[in-house]
Amino acid sequence: MRDVDLLVRAAFLYPMSEGLPILADAEVAIAAGRIVHAGPRQPEGAWRAARTIGGSRFAALPGFVNCHCHTASIVFRSQTDDHAARSALFDVAFRMEKDVSEDEWAMCAEVGVAGMLRAGITTINDIWYAPHRLAETVERAGLRADIANKVFDVRLEALRDGDYSRDVRRGEARLREGVAFVERWNGAAQGRIRGRIGAHATDTCGPGLHREARAEARRLGVGMHIHAAQSAGEIEQIMAGQGCGPLEYLARLNVLAPDVVLAHLTFATDADLDAVAAADAPYAHCSTIYPRRGRYPRLEDILGRDIRTGLATDWMQNDPFEAMRNALNAMRLRLGRPDAMSSAQALWLATMGAARVMGLDAEIGSLEIGKKADLILVDLDRPHLQPFYGGYSALVYYARADDVRVAVIDGAIALEDGAPTRLDEPRALARLAERTPHWRTRLAALGSRAVFGPHCACCG
Ligand SMILES: [Zn+2]
Repeated sequence: MRDVDLLVRAAFLYPMSEGLPILADAEVAIAAGRIVHAGPRQPEGAWRAARTIGGSRFAALPGFVNCHCHTASIVFRSQTDDHAARSALFDVAFRMEKDVSEDEWAMCAEVGVAGMLRAGITTINDIWYAPHRLAETVERAGLRADIANKVFDVRLEALRDGDYSRDVRRGEARLREGVAFVERWNGAAQGRIRGRIGAHATDTCGPGLHREARAEARRLGVGMHIHAAQSAGEIEQIMAGQGCGPLEYLARLNVLAPDVVLAHLTFATDADLDAVAAADAPYAHCSTIYPRRGRYPRLEDILGRDIRTGLATDWMQNDPFEAMRNALNAMRLRLGRPDAMSSAQALWLATMGAARVMGLDAEIGSLEIGKKADLILVDLDRPHLQPFYGGYSALVYYARADDVRVAVIDGAIALEDGAPTRLDEPRALARLAERTPHWRTRLAALGSRAVFGPHCACCG
């Protein structure tokens, strides 16, 4: 009999590890935050568990790894959904975000983290404002996170007018803030939190700032996080100034490397993708946002180049099941073939694939002996999931974020009965609701047509 801290029982176990099949009637035993058994249910008496959870109504799978997101960006919910990427960023987000205070970002981060946990996301890779406030919530909530401060040297709100004038002092100040964040938080929360240097995008940082950010990341021994080939405006700017695509440009600056997570690649050329592959830089694919913007990245060409790829949610809609289905549907429509992507591949991209993108695949992303215990339980006892036959498509095509009832991170239960265990979610929601009228007024003043009131579409 072996002493373990937590024993997780499941009707079906999805290990998501090379060569390991789905198992029925399985269990995961956890000691000191790590998996000591993930396989068939052992005979009674094999374990003396401090606690046993799960059972025959649950499927166990690795926690989702969200390798590119902006947890606090929920302030823009419903404000950019009917916009092209350029307009969503230049007309809405960039003009509003400069006026959001650190306390407001902290409010949004708390509700955002609760939403991530409820969706079965156990690891995030975040780049945004007020990173230390997100880190405080992540530490408290029990989530795992790589976090970067958003570094740029333009006036984001001026980009819609084509004004790319560089403010070197602003860039320097934001990079210093990012460095200070890494120095304070990298390795915090028993190693659950790591810092990254986040050069916001290829066009919103000048070449000097890109080089300096790269140098600081190397000095600190941390990775980077960059938006690349995201919008038409970015492409125009880089083409005009550099005469090449944004990834070729980053390669010339010697920024690209295996530790630089690149989000989007939506407008990447062949030469751009070749540069990414040559540098072995990994890619965060945000399948939910692309169809909304009317342009889908050439994922088949990206995977065809063996670029390390994972699924991510980007901003505001953080449902990994939706992300998997969007990737599947988009790929099948793009290539006109139902075998363009499989359910198993989608689930792999959302777990192991995304862990590889973050360089965390030796520790998380699959349920294997020796790995950190990051897993979730999906409740199968739901009308929309039954009858449940236990294949990949049974989960990927039918489950919803709300079906996730338990999330274990580092061996600790961070979500139970579908609610975060260590966050005061009702209080966080109440604070957000109190602030919402203020944001609505601000958005209306900026000309948003997606708020209720005189500007709303139905009222004219
Ligand atoms: Zn993003």
